[in-house]
Amino acid sequence: DRIVGGQEISDDIYVSPSVRPKQIHEYIGQKAVREQLELSMQAAKMRGESLDHVLLYGPPGLGKTTLSNIIAQEMGVTLRQTSGPVIEKPGDLAAVLTRLEPHDVLFVDEIHRLSPIVEEVLYPAMEDFQIDIVIGEGPAAQSVKIDLPPFTLVGATTRAGLLTSPLRDRFGLVQRLEFYSDEELTQIVSRSAYILGMEALPEGAAEIARRSRGTPRIANRLLRRVRDFAQVRGDGIITQPIADAALNLLEVDSRGLDKMDRRFLQTLIEKFEGGPVGIDSLATALGEERGTIEDVIEPFLVQQGFLIRTPRGRMATSHSYQHLDIEKPVANQ
Ligand code: ADP
Repeated sequence: DRIVGGQEISDDIYVSPSVRPKQIHEYIGQKAVREQLELSMQAAKMRGESLDHVLLYGPPGLGKTTLSNIIAQEMGVTLRQTSGPVIEKPGDLAAVLTRLEPHDVLFVDEIHRLSPIVEEVLYPAMEDFQIDIVIGEGPAAQSVKIDLPPFTLVGATTRAGLLTSPLRDRFGLVQRLEFYSDEELTQIVSRSAYILGMEALPEGAAEIARRSRGTPRIANRLLRRVRDFAQVRGDGIITQPIADAALNLLEVDSRGLDKMDRRFLQTLIEKFEGGPVGIDSLATALGEERGTIEDVIEPFLVQQGFLIRTPRGRMATSHSYQHLDIEKPVANQ
C-alpha cells in the first residue's frame, strides 16, 4: 500500500463523512468530460431515452467511479455496481442484467478484465438490449432470448489499450480523464477539509495539492495524514509549514515522489549512468518485478518528465538529475 499510489487502499475506504462529490456541480475539473456528459444527459432526458453507453478511462483515483455515481444521480436512476473480475460466467452477467430497471446505470469497473465468453453476452445486451443464454446441458440444452430494459453501461478502465475493439466500438461516449492541475487539486483539498470539519489555509491546501500527483484520491489521503500531524504537533490548523513537515515525515517529496520513485531514478543514474538501459536490467538491479516498474512506477515519472522511454531503453532526464541534486556528467549533456 503506497501512500502515493492511485489505487484504493484500506485507508481510503471508511472515510466519514464521505468526501465523494454526489452532484455534477461538486465535481471539480475534467471540464471537457463534464460538458460532453452534461450535453448527452440532457439530450437523453429530452428524448426520454437512456443515456448512451459510456466508457471512462484513465489512471486510478481520477474520479471514474465518482462520475458514474453522478451520472445515475443526474439521470434520476439507480446505479448498479460490479467489476470485470467479479463476473466470471455468462450466467453472472445475465443475473445482473435481468435485474436492471429501465434506464438504470450499470457500472462495470475494470471492464478490460471481462473474460471473452462474458464479453460475447455483453455485445447484444449493449446493442439490442437482448441476451441469449443457454439453459440446460447436453442434448436438452436450449438457447433462450431474453429482452432487457434499456440501460446505460458505464465501463471504467485504467488500460483502454487492453479493451477489444468490438467492445470499445459499442460505447457511444468514450471519455479520457486527465490528471488534475494543482489549482483543481487545491480546490478538492479545501472542499474535503471543509466537509471533514478541518481548518486548512489556502497555502496548506496548495502544498498538499502539489504533492498529490494530479490525483484526487491521493490528495484526500494526504489530507487525512496531514490532519493527524496538525492535531498532534500543531494546533489542528493545516498551514503550509505543517503540511510540508507532515509530508516530509511521510517521505513524499516536493513533487510527490516517494522512496520507491527516488530509488528507481537513483539506480538508473548511479548504476547505469542515466541510461539508456533495458527494463529487465533495471528490474534486476532494483529487485522489483518488471510489471510493477512498468505499471506502478514509470507512468508518473514519464508524465512528469523525469524519465523517457526510448527504443534503446530507459533514460533519466536532466530534470531527474536536478531533482535528486546529482550533477550530470558532461559526456551525458
Ligand atoms: P477511480 O474510480 O477513477 O479510481 P474515484 O471515483 O473512486 O476514482 O475517486 C477517488 C476519490 O477522489 C473519490 O472518493 C472522491 O472523493 C475524489 N474525487 C475524484 N474525482 C473528484 C473530483 N472531480 N472532484 C472532487 N473529488 C474527486
